Amino acid sequence: MFGFPRAILVPLLCRERIRVRKEPRGGGNTHLAAYMKNWQCPFCDQYCSYAEYFPIEGNTRLPDETSFYLRLEGKFIHCPNLKCKKVTVTAALYSAMLNERTGAYDAIGTIKEFWRLAPASKAKVFPDYIPVGIRDDYAEACSIKDLSPKASATIARRALQGMIRDFWKVSEPRLIDEIEAIEDKVDPDTWRAIDGLRKVGNIGAHMERDVNTIIDVEPAEAEQLIWLVETLLRDWYIARFERAQRLKELEAMAASKKS
Ligand SMILES: [Zn+2]
Repeated sequence: MFGFPRAILVPLLCRERIRVRKEPRGGGNTHLAAYMKNWQCPFCDQYCSYAEYFPIEGNTRLPDETSFYLRLEGKFIHCPNLKCKKVTVTAALYSAMLNERTGAYDAIGTIKEFWRLAPASKAKVFPDYIPVGIRDDYAEACSIKDLSPKASATIARRALQGMIRDFWKVSEPRLIDEIEAIEDKVDPDTWRAIDGLRKVGNIGAHMERDVNTIIDVEPAEAEQLIWLVETLLRDWYIARFERAQRLKELEAMAASKKS
């Protein structure tokens, strides 16, 4: 748990359960409420409306201002799923005003910046039984999605190719041939999605056509490609692993009845 000794963390958590500030006039601290409303744990994918957290906070008065502050709020969010219980660390930056009556710093306007510090970027954390190269490509594609959608799409495309090769054991020189080779193995909707997105981030094909043509990748396209990789990781690897686990349990149960 990020190196925090359990002896320190547990008493703190028990004492500092969610502290809801009073909604200030003219806006209110809706950032946390909105964030927590549909919070999805990046480790186990469960949606939660409540999670244990305790804040780290800091405020700095804006230059030449008397009552406006810049406020940074960091949080540890503890996943309440008993099978997960992992900790997510986030930080949010926003403008705030000191509420003289309550002594609290009340948020003003919309959030300026938001970072998820751990696990890094917006990538979901996939299990170890998925090959590390595929997981690394996926995480890298997520981490640079906003900075460079084109580079992100290129890496996500490589992750997609890695999955097709590893999971379906096909290997062709070109991705288009590999996608064709799995057409009768995957359901038609999934296949059409893979085929439709295969051109996004395909720098090679663009360069063959014209080295001076820069075909940009829209952020939404990079996002779609990442979503496809996540969906296939779940539908292929996780589903196969969980099915095998259930079958093993069934087998063990059947064996215990016999004896
Ligand atoms: Zn979780």
